[in-house]
Amino acid sequence: MSETPHPSSSTSDDSQQQNTLSLSDFQSVIRKMFYEKDQSRGIEGTFMWFMEEVGELSSALRDNTDRDNLEEEFADVLAWLATMANVAGVDLEQAVTRKYVQGCPRCNQAVCTCDLAWKP
Ligand SMILES: [Zn+2]
Repeated sequence: MSETPHPSSSTSDDSQQQNTLSLSDFQSVIRKMFYEKDQSRGIEGTFMWFMEEVGELSSALRDNTDRDNLEEEFADVLAWLATMANVAGVDLEQAVTRKYVQGCPRCNQAVCTCDLAWKP
């Protein structure tokens, strides 16, 4: 878990000039914030919470009326995914880098050319 600073990705929205986090930094933040509780809840209980958040994200996407709420639900799903990774001992950034940075895991292309019906 490095403390290296990350340049914020260029964005046209100047209000986004707040602290930015790499995926690894984010997982560390979540670990620091919740690890004791996450550990005692265990992976099954954590997975239940994760799925509940996924359901809330689904509702927010279907509603599509409250942009702030939609963004919060995305944040919650990612936070619970990071929590599960902490409990399971998985480094998310490393896992994502290994699987996706070289291109689509199935066709190896930077822009996936797989059939729409295939799971990458
Ligand atoms: Zn592909």
